[in-house]
Amino acid sequence: QDTSFEVQSRPVNGTDAVLVVFQDVTHLEQAGQMRRDFVANVSHELRTPLTALMGFIETLQGPARDDTAARDRFLQIMADEANRMNRLVGDLLSLNRVESEERVRPKEPLELTRLIQSTLNTLRPLADDAGVNLSLDAPSEPITMIGDSDQLRQVFTNLVENAIKYGGSGGQVDVFVNLSDRDTAMRGPAVRIKIIDQGPGIDAKHLARLTERFYRADSHRSRELGGTGLGLAIVKHIVNRHRGRLRVESELGQGAIFTVILPR
Ligand code: ADP
Repeated sequence: QDTSFEVQSRPVNGTDAVLVVFQDVTHLEQAGQMRRDFVANVSHELRTPLTALMGFIETLQGPARDDTAARDRFLQIMADEANRMNRLVGDLLSLNRVESEERVRPKEPLELTRLIQSTLNTLRPLADDAGVNLSLDAPSEPITMIGDSDQLRQVFTNLVENAIKYGGSGGQVDVFVNLSDRDTAMRGPAVRIKIIDQGPGIDAKHLARLTERFYRADSHRSRELGGTGLGLAIVKHIVNRHRGRLRVESELGQGAIFTVILPR
């Protein structure tokens, strides 16, 4: 990185002292660096499944040509790797879209509890497969607000899917919806949606960086579960667009709590 500095000489208490002023890299250079890091990350994430695919194609064309059992197994792995690439490209496109729309105010009237309920219904088969009981506790009155329903659905899908994927060992994922007329964070009427799991939790040192693109607290587990590392980055942009906040609280061994706070 290009860091420039100035040296000034001036007398302090009668002696000569040297003042060194380091000038920070400009915003432009930082943006350039971020873009280069992002391209490097995307290339790496795409190359990993691609290398696996190329290896299996070569094996199927050569040594495993007449081995039917091996062929079926390899084809399954190839399908998994192709799916991984497809998910990554899908998430990259979502990220691009939500980023470009971040400054556009959403203006669709929606009812939040129904939206969350229907998102949970879609995720129920995933929860059942993981042996997770999924519960929703919401006020009985409808929660009408202005937002982007597709994007908010994506927020709850990503957060609940993570709670099932990473915290599913706890057997329970709870979603709580609370209304408040004077929310401390929003300084006005707001709704808080909490997604709580009883899984292994997240070490405090990771919490501040979780919404960075491709940041993973447990890289091995994320890849094993087919994660792209972009889910929470997408969530963050959507919550920002709705002028809300995303909070994460967790301790190792104590499960995780993700809270979305939206103004009303
Ligand atoms: P990924 O595609 O890897 O799931 P995300 O952006 O959705 O990416 O999440 C980033 C990381 O945060 C995950 O890789 C995982 O390590 C961690 N994480 C997210 N949710 C939870 C949770 N409920 N419990 C434990 N770790 C979590």
